[in-house]
Amino acid sequence: MSPSGWNGLFPKALYEEIVAHARSVFPEECCGLVAGDGKGIPLRTIPMENALHSPVRYQMEPKEQFQVLKRLRSEGLEMWGIYHSHPVTEPVPSDTDIRLAYYPELVYLLTSLKDAVPPLRSFLIRDGHVKEIPLTLTDGIAK
Ligand SMILES: [Zn+2]
Repeated sequence: MSPSGWNGLFPKALYEEIVAHARSVFPEECCGLVAGDGKGIPLRTIPMENALHSPVRYQMEPKEQFQVLKRLRSEGLEMWGIYHSHPVTEPVPSDTDIRLAYYPELVYLLTSLKDAVPPLRSFLIRDGHVKEIPLTLTDGIAK
């Protein structure tokens, strides 16, 4: 279940999907899930609707999230991470992001459209503490 042994490698194709999603809903924040193979390897993005349609907050619909998790389990996959975008600010967790981070075992990915080339950063958020994991984009699967 835990991606805690993750080596920081992240497929460039997934990065591009996250950035495309962020751009498509700008100036609102985008959000979604990243599915993994069950051994800590990120495999797939699953764009979700930001139920708040807000430029400063995001929230996934619990019902939609439940359906996705069910589908992933049936495929032998699992929830690996959660991504969202900051349309005009730095890609670091806000106080609200930290307060509402309910999954200490997941990787939180953040992009920002503030710069021409959007960065992607990754964090573990546990009990209000944020730890960045240096992320490296790779071609192909992140093994
Ligand atoms: Zn945020």
